[in-house]
Amino acid sequence: MKALFLDRDGVLNVLRPNDYVKCPDELEILPGVKEAIILLRRHYDLILIVTNQQGIGKGLMTEADLTAVHAKLQECLGNIIDRIYYCPELERAHSFRRKPNIGMALQARRDYPGLRLKESVMVGDSMTDMLFGRRAGMQTVLVGDNSDVWQRQPYLVDRRYPTLLEYAQSL
Ligand SMILES: [Mg+2]
Repeated sequence: MKALFLDRDGVLNVLRPNDYVKCPDELEILPGVKEAIILLRRHYDLILIVTNQQGIGKGLMTEADLTAVHAKLQECLGNIIDRIYYCPELERAHSFRRKPNIGMALQARRDYPGLRLKESVMVGDSMTDMLFGRRAGMQTVLVGDNSDVWQRQPYLVDRRYPTLLEYAQSL
């Protein structure tokens, strides 16, 4: 089985700079994302989200708030995301689950025994995502307006597209 691993903020929904999506009303899906997910569904056995959410560790939101946000996200995308993994811990806790560490990828492999990370792809909008994908042995796809990531560490990036939809249309 091959999986598509997706970062959340900046890939599926609008990133809130220096803030978090703390409640469903703050979740704004990016244009073309629903269409992209429907296309991507044909190419991957699993679609998984992997997201760092240290707003929980900071006490700015609760796990129940995140659950409500993810329920809305699933609803907006037609309930076709197989699973959403998140790390609530603070960056300074150096959790193995927090990207760029690969705990969430290894958890997915435990949850889906047929999953082959080597045939899977990580799509994200940050260096952290590209490093996570590389360390887990996946292919990496950078989306969004992140030429700085690309210029500084191009060896972490296998492919690059302006949006998730353009990546989906390229397959
Ligand atoms: Mg992101």
